[in-house]
Amino acid sequence: MTDVDRRFQSQTPPDGCPAAFVCGQCGRAVPGLAPGTDYRNHCPACLWSMHVDMRPGDRRSGCRGLMEPVAVWVRPNGEWALVHRCRQCDALRANRIAGDDNELALVSLAVRPLARPPFPLDRLGMPRDRGPG
Ligand SMILES: [Zn+2]
Ligand SMILES: [Zn+2]
Repeated sequence: MTDVDRRFQSQTPPDGCPAAFVCGQCGRAVPGLAPGTDYRNHCPACLWSMHVDMRPGDRRSGCRGLMEPVAVWVRPNGEWALVHRCRQCDALRANRIAGDDNELALVSLAVRPLARPPFPLDRLGMPRDRGPG
């Protein structure tokens, strides 16, 4: 187990039930409890988050910037996590997905790089000049 894994496993809410919040991106009222995760850190509808934590769950950041979901990260155990980037300070955070996250939004985010490839996809699978050896 790596240090990063250990840090992610210590994500426990500081005091019991987390508070509900209103999504700063889509305005949806989001209940604090999320199925499949210890605490809610992003909107299940649009997946945006808010920069409120110094460390996961501590709610000690004064930034309060909106955090845009920029990527899906697959952890070694196969679990999906969202990578959020703060619009205000550019901080990057990885957050577990919740059981009620919008699946279409998750998949749209996951396939975004394939939808906008930096090179023609028909180049894939072409025989390459491997040279000797
Ligand atoms: Zn939202
Ligand atoms: Zn921030």
